[in-house]
Amino acid sequence: MRYLSTRGGVTPVSFSQAVMMGLATDGGLLLPERIPAVDAPTLRAWAQLPFAPLALEIVGRFVAEDDIPRADLARLVERSYATFTHPEVTPVVAVDGLRILELFHGPTLAFKDVALQLLGNLFEHLLARDGGHLNILGATSGDTGSAAIYGVRGKRGIDIFILHPHNRVSPVQEKQMTTVLDANVHNIAIDGTFDDAQRIVKALFGDLAFKDAYRLGAVNSINWARIAAQIVYYFYAWGRVSGGDPGRRVSFSVPTGNFGDIFAGYVAKRMGLPVDRLVLATNRNDILARFVSSGAYESGDVYATVSPAMDIQVSSNFERYLFYLMEGDAAAVKALMDGFARTGRLVVSEEKHRQAQADFASTAIGEEQTMATIRDVFDRSGYILDPHTAVGVAAARAVGVPDAICLATAHPAKFAEAVTGAIGRGVPLPSPFEDLLERESRMAVLSAEADAIREYVIETLRALSRTA
Ligand SMILES: *Cc1c(COP(=O)(O)O)cnc(C)c1O
Repeated sequence: MRYLSTRGGVTPVSFSQAVMMGLATDGGLLLPERIPAVDAPTLRAWAQLPFAPLALEIVGRFVAEDDIPRADLARLVERSYATFTHPEVTPVVAVDGLRILELFHGPTLAFKDVALQLLGNLFEHLLARDGGHLNILGATSGDTGSAAIYGVRGKRGIDIFILHPHNRVSPVQEKQMTTVLDANVHNIAIDGTFDDAQRIVKALFGDLAFKDAYRLGAVNSINWARIAAQIVYYFYAWGRVSGGDPGRRVSFSVPTGNFGDIFAGYVAKRMGLPVDRLVLATNRNDILARFVSSGAYESGDVYATVSPAMDIQVSSNFERYLFYLMEGDAAAVKALMDGFARTGRLVVSEEKHRQAQADFASTAIGEEQTMATIRDVFDRSGYILDPHTAVGVAAARAVGVPDAICLATAHPAKFAEAVTGAIGRGVPLPSPFEDLLERESRMAVLSAEADAIREYVIETLRALSRTA
């Protein structure tokens, strides 16, 4: 299996190269040259598999045997999901007429673990195989940082530097990052905002001499391996609900920000998974819901909400969907994205707009409705939704797909403030985090200057005698 850019400017690369490249070198996103098809007998067989063996089957369809041999991939997949605390990894639970696909049993209690556990193991494997040292640099407003840190902690060949705004993330979020004491994990609290942190990271990636000398890498949601890993739980959930009957279609409701999670569901459907509706649920930051309703993709202001992981106005994976919507016409995608970069607006034809409406049902859910949904589900069943999951549940009901499988993207204890606001009580942190707030932690507090951060990275790597 080879990978191409959505903008057509990259000679085909292997899965391994796609993983190490992240963003395509022409500014586009990488996609497999074809989507593997799954027939009815395979669906039936897959419905019987536990999560990790199913992940091997599915991810294996996207990796050539002469790139990563099956036995190696099996080891990486096995190790990635052994860190989950639930025996099913991603169980489907029935709650008051709802079906909830719990994706939060990984090491940081959020769905990003499903992808980042695998990505960390892939990085380590590929660096050991091909040589070299990778320095991951990223900024976080809270959630992605901890999942990335847990993905690579203790891994050979990798250091990770994560910037967060000092005293501006929740205590649980801060401690989830800073209590990881492995020698290759470097938390940096900057005296500034999340925007400052992002600006610094961007500046350092833009310093090409530094970026190349220190082999800087990113773990953002555009890495193809993350999408491949996320396809797995759509098949897994279908298997639990259908019992393996290929005639049984199900719908999914997906709380959406950067479009990575729901794009994985779209790929699963194109592979042949019997999916009826895909509900694209957004919070007040509704660029994607507006696109589905109007055919215009247009960025607006970013609002802070109770579901902060979805406070996004430009969705980094949207371009991948656009490539399929344009039926693989990379020149058309490039023209649309160039126009979007210039004007902040992109409009598709009437016909493509109709196709998007066939592909997704979508709605934006406001703050009141999110809180009311947490309260309502709790009152009726005692089950506590996190605010992101509540957006998905509310959207499934609003667009008339109440039997959709709702993806639960975070454990409610991670968003205790919103939950307490909705139901008047908090949720204790589950095992093994009961004592998280008392644990020893480590971080550097630095000024919000790119030069100070660059210097810190260089000094830290020198002190550890790392060489590129
Ligand atoms: C990242 C995240 C989302 C959004 O997922 P995308 O792939 O960016 O659409 C939703 N919920 C939670 C809790 C998240 O961390």
